[in-house]
Amino acid sequence: MDTYSNLSDHIQSLKIIDTHEHLPFESERSKETDVLAEWLTHYFSCDLVSAGLSDGDLSTVRDSSIDLKKRWKIVEPCWHAAESTGYGRVLALTAKDIYGIDEINSRTIGQLDDSFKKARAKGGHYRFVLQDKSGIALSICCGMYEPYQETKDPFVFAMYMDEFISPAHYGKIRATAAKVGMEVHSLADWMEVTRKHIEKYLNGRTRVVCLKCGLAYHRSLRFDKTAQAEAERSFNEFFADVNLPEWRPPIKASKTLSDFMMHFVCSVADEKKLVFQIHAGIQEGNGNIIYDSNPTLLSNLFLEYRNVRFDIFHMGYPYVMELGTLAKNFRNVFIDMCWGHIISPEAARRALVEWLDAVPANKISAFGGDYCFVDGVYGHQFLARQNVTMALAQKVADGSISISRAKELATWIFVDNPKRLFGLERFLDGKTSRKNK
Ligand SMILES: [Zn+2]
Repeated sequence: MDTYSNLSDHIQSLKIIDTHEHLPFESERSKETDVLAEWLTHYFSCDLVSAGLSDGDLSTVRDSSIDLKKRWKIVEPCWHAAESTGYGRVLALTAKDIYGIDEINSRTIGQLDDSFKKARAKGGHYRFVLQDKSGIALSICCGMYEPYQETKDPFVFAMYMDEFISPAHYGKIRATAAKVGMEVHSLADWMEVTRKHIEKYLNGRTRVVCLKCGLAYHRSLRFDKTAQAEAERSFNEFFADVNLPEWRPPIKASKTLSDFMMHFVCSVADEKKLVFQIHAGIQEGNGNIIYDSNPTLLSNLFLEYRNVRFDIFHMGYPYVMELGTLAKNFRNVFIDMCWGHIISPEAARRALVEWLDAVPANKISAFGGDYCFVDGVYGHQFLARQNVTMALAQKVADGSISISRAKELATWIFVDNPKRLFGLERFLDGKTSRKNK
């Protein structure tokens, strides 16, 4: 058997860990949808916009109350322009392998929509897509589902910290504090509320396995060391007369306040030796400040909070080599390839080939679907397994590693590394091979 097929057989046999998803619970998905509305929730919709689709046309195409054929006609030229990007290929692979549609076009879109709706109505679609078709053992979902542990879906959770680090409304502050039986009258109270929430969920008894920060969408990842008194002055703006009534619009937490609270959250995570997932690199959507998301901006946090294991997302794309350098340099910095295989499949392969030369192989997690709708996860894991197979086959071919080492590395990055980093053993039945099902 040739190297590629040999490696591919091994990689296809793995039941993998999925480090990052945004999936709603299966029972809570919106009913008012169809295949175009759901598949254009995110990602490929952004490629359609960068291909030239207007904002007005995008909202028409997403509106499931309008005739499907009419909407397809509007979107078809941009769809055709973008269909070979990573995002486009995910949808094509999903149409083919989940719904039996070989090509998405004006003749097949109606049939695809019928199959999509039938699958949703039948039930058990999450199990079919995530476990049977994608071979995923467990997914880490990001969000504030409460209570976290009551779900039949194969999920554990990341606790989203943005509303604690960067609060936006007095009413929200009060409601969050009430959940841990507190009232907030000072920054010290808010710090206590934050600590109590972390202790409530990150105690080894819930399905919450790590913290998550998505602030690179809204501000720079450079979090300066700030005095509590300065942060308090800024926090007290929430108590100004105009900001107290429930119906007032949200205000933006100042950089000083969110700098201070980020350091506070890191100090609690340091004390409790937690894992902190951090968004770095390209932000979803069209139009943002890419340079805010450079992971090297986090260096002061990596240096100060040595017991926190920072799981840095999205390959840091386009700061891919910067992230490799950080993971090589710091014991507490880990590479997470979630979302990466579809942002650019070629960038993911090249990055992995280079990282495996520079970075110890226990520092990389290979897959996180990062989808808001379940069908996308299938196409993403397909490309992830293919990319890892191609990258490892290249390293065997150029004599860097043996075929048995390549198989070992594949198992590490798809299964063992994320399992160890996030302490997932207790949620798995010990089976991480599809053959042992
Ligand atoms: Zn995400």
